Amino acid sequence: MKTYQKSADLFERAKHLIPGGVNSPVRACRSVGMSPVFIEKAMGSKLVDADGNEYIDYIGSWGPMILGHAHPAVTKAIGQVLKRGTSFGAPVDLEVEIAEMIIDAVPAVEKIRMVNSGTEATMSAIRVARGVTGRNTIIKFDGCYHGHADSFLVAAGSGVATLGIAGSPGVPETVIAHTLSLPYNDLDTFVSVMKKSGDSIAAVIVEPVAGNMGLVPPAAGFLSTLRQETAKYGSLLIFDEVMTGFRVSYGGAQELYDIDPDISCFGKIVGGGLPVGAYGGRKDIMSQVAPEGPVYQAGTLSGNPIAMAAGIATLKELMKPGFYEALEKSSARLAQGLEKAAAKTGTSAVINRVGSMVGLFLTNQPVSNFADAKTSDLDKFAAYYRKMFQRGIYLAPSQFEALFVSAAHSDQDIDATIHAAEEALSELSIK
Ligand SMILES: *Cc1c(COP(=O)(O)O)cnc(C)c1O
Repeated sequence: MKTYQKSADLFERAKHLIPGGVNSPVRACRSVGMSPVFIEKAMGSKLVDADGNEYIDYIGSWGPMILGHAHPAVTKAIGQVLKRGTSFGAPVDLEVEIAEMIIDAVPAVEKIRMVNSGTEATMSAIRVARGVTGRNTIIKFDGCYHGHADSFLVAAGSGVATLGIAGSPGVPETVIAHTLSLPYNDLDTFVSVMKKSGDSIAAVIVEPVAGNMGLVPPAAGFLSTLRQETAKYGSLLIFDEVMTGFRVSYGGAQELYDIDPDISCFGKIVGGGLPVGAYGGRKDIMSQVAPEGPVYQAGTLSGNPIAMAAGIATLKELMKPGFYEALEKSSARLAQGLEKAAAKTGTSAVINRVGSMVGLFLTNQPVSNFADAKTSDLDKFAAYYRKMFQRGIYLAPSQFEALFVSAAHSDQDIDATIHAAEEALSELSIK
């Protein structure tokens, strides 16, 4: 019999000290009717909680851990830099090295600025877009999540969707008035809004593969239409590749779908598990950023040597021949297995996948936008989550999150996951 007593005790203490007991909302596991377990350590594809229970991890720290946990190349790089000190607040060689690596990987990025989180990257990107265009309004898409900056908390995905809140108190209406949120993958609506207001749109920001409403791939022609229309009206196109960058391919979703955005945002994988974000784009745009230009943006710990070292070590592993092919293979194995498990158990489910990002929706209709995602049976998802958890499978505790496969997931891990899913779904269908 598994026990979770140490986690329960820690959570009790945490609830008195930290809002909801957690430092990021979805971790509290409320939407699946559970309390969180506290993690003691992680290695490869596995997590171990405070009570010694082991899990096959499909959260991967919400995206960064594409190599698996505690990858030796990453921990070694961190250890080496650690000897030099932890932070200088002055330029270091590693910042130049990672800038070169990202610029080499992503042709649309000619200059890049490192920050400390995905949120910082996206909020800085729209400041630059507004500064460059002299316009205020931005367009985003329902169910896309771009971090927690004020401008983006309109019909947002991830935790905002999980908690079922439309926006957030504390965000001034005057800020939100400059954000239009449109349905994802809806070309007609987008084109007609641009026709009416294109001249006042500073930027269109999009998750090129949406991973914060579950997993929703871009429809044919969606991204290219965004590209054409923004160019037509002098608006900037921002790809938020915080999740997809170095995930769906080394050059990100923009490489996969062959679109050059004006600005790209990164995070998660580029930090190799440390707090890092980045935004970059065309030279003429990025040259507007201080001190080269007037758009202000700064950071005490930006370009932190330890974080840069972890990012560089991670990217070096990703560059090795065959990396993405192997990841594609195991991700396909998982998605196909889940599809079979659903079919075998008579479960209405939709499995979406792009590379190593997978979404399982408990619904009977195709999911191509946030409204579709919301047709999922959330109670059933919660029950499914709990049954998987009991079987040692650590999924994101929300219907509106993607699942990440890492290079550390073995065929045995994946087959065990499929087996657990089949058992869980069959118990749900009997009930
Ligand atoms: C995670 C995420 C962010 C926010 O990044 P943080 O590091 O959590 O601030 C922004 N955009 C996308 C697409 C993300 O997945």
